Amino acid sequence: MTGSDSGPTPGSGPTAGSGPTANSGPTPGSGPTAGSAALRLRADSLFPGGVNSPVRAYRAVGGEPPVIVRGSGATVWDADDREYLDYVGAFGPLILGHAHPDVVAAVHRATEAGGPFGATTPGEIRLGELVREAMPAVERLRFVSSGTEAAMSALRVARAATGRNLILKFEGGYHGHSDALLADAGSGLATLGLPASAGVTAEVAGQTIVAPYNDLAAVETCLRTHRDQVAAIIVEPVAANMGVVAPSPGFLAGLRDAATRHGALLIFDEVITGFRLARGGAQELYDVRPDLVLLGKILGGGLPIGAYGGRAELMDLVAPVGPVYQAGTLSGHPTVMAAGIATLEALSPGTYAGLESAGLTLEHGLVELARGAGVEASVARAGSLLTVFFRATPPCNYREALESDGAQFARFHRSMRLAGVLLPPSPYEAWFISTAHTPEVIAGTLAAAERAFMELG
Ligand code: PMP
Repeated sequence: MTGSDSGPTPGSGPTAGSGPTANSGPTPGSGPTAGSAALRLRADSLFPGGVNSPVRAYRAVGGEPPVIVRGSGATVWDADDREYLDYVGAFGPLILGHAHPDVVAAVHRATEAGGPFGATTPGEIRLGELVREAMPAVERLRFVSSGTEAAMSALRVARAATGRNLILKFEGGYHGHSDALLADAGSGLATLGLPASAGVTAEVAGQTIVAPYNDLAAVETCLRTHRDQVAAIIVEPVAANMGVVAPSPGFLAGLRDAATRHGALLIFDEVITGFRLARGGAQELYDVRPDLVLLGKILGGGLPIGAYGGRAELMDLVAPVGPVYQAGTLSGHPTVMAAGIATLEALSPGTYAGLESAGLTLEHGLVELARGAGVEASVARAGSLLTVFFRATPPCNYREALESDGAQFARFHRSMRLAGVLLPPSPYEAWFISTAHTPEVIAGTLAAAERAFMELG
């Protein structure tokens, strides 16, 4: 066990007294020994690296990965009853915070009603309509169970629609773990320093071309070099898996134009940005209309989901109407649909104003505190997505993001954890702010950050 495991005593974090405090019962379903260290030992023997998704192993920041038993609002508790302010937010879905009462009630009702049924349910229709109302580019859609599946299926549609094989993605862009999309991907691959994954054939890897984000000239060169061969350009409209990197002015409109001129489809991966940057996602914010859209995370209110959608004639290529096969036993699961509906119904224009204000306060506070402590750092932010980069200015592409000082980030992460603030355990994952991140929560976070920056300075 390392020093970082000796976190604050229960209730001593920055929110002590401000959130729910009762966490004295047994850990539900956790088996004979419920302390973090004992649970980690059992996890280590069961799962590669002790985890079911690589970033959770804390390799980039050190220390023992936490075992979390409960969350409420902006707060989570570990198996040793330590309390943390949470900026992981399940890596995106929890825009309303943990255990939002409307979501919990909807899940309860849906679960009691039985299912899944292997048949269409009203919840699918309602959630589908909510997506279509929010995103005019989505005339028709299909629910799947993860963002990975959404991306993989959309590529299949794009290849079928264009009769072309190649896909153009961006360095540091992450679109799930399907074979074709792991080249120069961000997220966990960036965290572990992997350029690609073993087990992907050269043939498949060779069908993915990679360009630097925010570089329209490079995109044009790729499309010319591979004239009439590129089926789709796939992009996170605001990159959030190399840390937050916003599109330069004109970048997204330029991609739209380039795709159209070269007969390729434009796919916006809004798995993170959808319903987060605005109800209609980045496509609403930047007023650029993609051909296909990928969704996930918030759409399922914290339960497993993905969706892909777009113009009706493209989506009508999907079986049973068209020849593109794609299916799923648990697709449109009624409990997931209920959580998604409750989440989307709780989001109003006021929600986005509140998230922006929380994000702005946090951004300005962090910038000031870093400066005050003499630490070279910059803050990149898009609404409720934020990254502290340990370099002088926010990056505009993956190469620049990688210049951020990872050792500084690791130290900062450990200090924040000791002070009761849980940040995503990677310099390349965004911090996720939720509606439960009240001004008091932000103030508590900044108090912790002041000490953490001082320790670095
Ligand atoms: N696209 C983006 C932009 C993502 O951030 C992620 C997951 N972080 C995915 C796709 C993959 O989603 P999932 O983990 O649900 O497969």
